[in-house]
Amino acid sequence: MTPVQSPEPVNCRQDGINDIVDKVRDGQRLSAQEGWRLYQTSDVEALHRAANDVRERRHGRRAYYVFNVHVNYSNVCVDSCMFCAFAKKEHEPGAYEMDLEEALSRTGALQNLPGSEVHIVGGLHPHFPYAYYIDLVRGIRERFPNVHIKAFTAVEIDHLARLSGKTWADVLRELKAVGLDSMPGGGAEILNDRVRRKLCADKITADQWLDVHRLAHRMGIRSNATMLFGHIERDEERIEHMIRLRDLQDETGGFMAFIPLRFHPANTRLARLPMASSSDVLRNIAVSRLMLDNFDHIKAYWTQVGLETARDAMNCGADDFDGTVVDERITHFAGARTPVGVTQDRLCALMREAGCIPVRRDSWYDEVEVFDR
Ligand code: SF4
Repeated sequence: MTPVQSPEPVNCRQDGINDIVDKVRDGQRLSAQEGWRLYQTSDVEALHRAANDVRERRHGRRAYYVFNVHVNYSNVCVDSCMFCAFAKKEHEPGAYEMDLEEALSRTGALQNLPGSEVHIVGGLHPHFPYAYYIDLVRGIRERFPNVHIKAFTAVEIDHLARLSGKTWADVLRELKAVGLDSMPGGGAEILNDRVRRKLCADKITADQWLDVHRLAHRMGIRSNATMLFGHIERDEERIEHMIRLRDLQDETGGFMAFIPLRFHPANTRLARLPMASSSDVLRNIAVSRLMLDNFDHIKAYWTQVGLETARDAMNCGADDFDGTVVDERITHFAGARTPVGVTQDRLCALMREAGCIPVRRDSWYDEVEVFDR
């Protein structure tokens, strides 16, 4: 990977980004240093316009969403990441566990909805047996054969491997055999050792996160990639994160979407930090659209960034709202004031306000329904 140079003082010549916009228009790849300049520029309009041009070349005015339900099966976790408001220790007030039947029944909301998806993530539970995870995926596949199962971050895959004494490859193979379709992109945080040491030292390393996704892609399991921003990371570390993902995407082509996640400080050990502003959210969306030239989709995940900011992001490089997101808990434990689930009509109205054509997609981004009246 090209190392990001130490930031230089921004002068007038560096502040403009016309040369970078020209490179993007010519289809040339941006360097780390150019990515860093995109974070520094005061010409935000040019940044948003350039990212929107890329978005339009790829997707026109289409804006995507999916019917989905989240199953956060337990918040009990052996880890203690500083940015996490979701995790609890066993027996701590607020800790919860879903038995298999409860976890399965939550997916029932998707019955008879073609192209729908269940998104399953949770804490690293110290005692749930390996069979719980296998039975959960198998049970959903048997009961709801048409629902796409996107389950378990790279961090959870590593946890299941430790729990069972199996390799990552064994775990992925066994999950795939009972119905796993794809993996979510969580646990990436910032793929930089300095940041991870400070925020989540016990979590898998940046290299390991990438290795799990590399392995999954090689086994035919596609995935997403997230970036948690707005805490202690520096702009050059955000760029390093994107370039590491871009390099892996060159190698495997297995990522479907990139999802910048705004850090919500409330109820975390970093509660003193201010939350990143909407303009910072839009800048991250735009920079990622320009840097990640081999990613098809940039997602404005509305439960994290807010519905109105997600709408505005449709003109700054994003093309995907995520979905109806019934029963999301992780962001809401951190104080997100967005609704828990949103109707299709509300999502479509926001997309139209952004000048977009709402398109309901499946998890592979194949179009299920186009609302182009
Ligand atoms: S971010 Fe994940 S691994 Fe870290 S404490 Fe929270 S639930 Fe556990």
